[in-house]
Amino acid sequence: MTASNLKPRIVTLGTAGGPRWWTPAEENNRTGIATAVVVGDSFYLVDCGHGVGRRLSQAGLKLANLRGIFLTHLHSDHTVDLASLAIFGLYDLLDRRNDPVRIIGPGNRGMLPYTSPRATVEPVPVAPHCPTPGTREMFEQLMYAHATDLNDRIIDSLRPSPFELFEASDIEIPDGIGYHANENPTPAMDPFVIYEDDLVKVSAILVEHPPVAPAFGFRFDTAEGSVTFSGDTTYTQNMVTLAQDTDLLLHEAIDFDFVEAMYADKTDEGSRAARDHHYKSHTSVRDAAKVASEAGVKQLALHHLVPGMAGDSVWKQAAEHFHGTFHVPADLEHIELRPSR
Ligand SMILES: [Zn+2]
Ligand SMILES: [Zn+2]
Repeated sequence: MTASNLKPRIVTLGTAGGPRWWTPAEENNRTGIATAVVVGDSFYLVDCGHGVGRRLSQAGLKLANLRGIFLTHLHSDHTVDLASLAIFGLYDLLDRRNDPVRIIGPGNRGMLPYTSPRATVEPVPVAPHCPTPGTREMFEQLMYAHATDLNDRIIDSLRPSPFELFEASDIEIPDGIGYHANENPTPAMDPFVIYEDDLVKVSAILVEHPPVAPAFGFRFDTAEGSVTFSGDTTYTQNMVTLAQDTDLLLHEAIDFDFVEAMYADKTDEGSRAARDHHYKSHTSVRDAAKVASEAGVKQLALHHLVPGMAGDSVWKQAAEHFHGTFHVPADLEHIELRPSR
């Protein structure tokens, strides 16, 4: 990393969490989770939720300046527009044949999760020959699924292959920390570096989002400040470790009153299992503020908001528990890592 006047900032491209399209509320219109980390003319993407391509063009961010895509975990609300970005993006990336966009995310889970104790019949997984693909395999399979279209363009229109313009790779979890996808998905650990160039150093840590494993939080350190992403997680000490003294923490938050209301009159085992997932895998507004306070972060922004159509008052309660600068950004807002005074 080299120091210069690059004014690093984030741009919220999408701030809603969850695999669905939220109804637009009056004061916001949140789309799927995705955030740009902008450093000078270059930028990096964290997650690729629904609508990311359109939001990038609205934000004036050109794909030609995209250095890397970092996936926190492989839930579809974080990955669903990876294929559209890569395929529609071919036309903006014609000069990147020798400098492909890196796609970096979790590797193959290695095993299926345990069956829910609420199951009454044995569930049937999809793709039993490859039921838990990691980032590299997922990107390959997404492109293979579109081969008819891509090959027409490659052969008839002499366009580049997405495999020339994107290079997908899996994050390797350090040995010796006791990680196991089902038995110990979030061991206490130190952050480890997954990417570095002249502008940023990106570190990762395991977070707690069962049954997803591995699931990561990311931290971008620049010469002019740092930003840390929780990914999807319940409260975990690992996030306090990763976010220590960071300039800006983007943390997920869920409104558990909404969860209770959604499942209040549902007694079937499927609904109960879905309700259980929210409690063991996501963070309340209050706990997001607790992480920020314990880590001594300077600014906290809540995103990956569930439900995406909730009014801002639901989220602003976090301000009572955190004494730094607090944000509930809408989509397409900019937050500088170190705001100029
Ligand atoms: Zn999510
Ligand atoms: Zn998730």
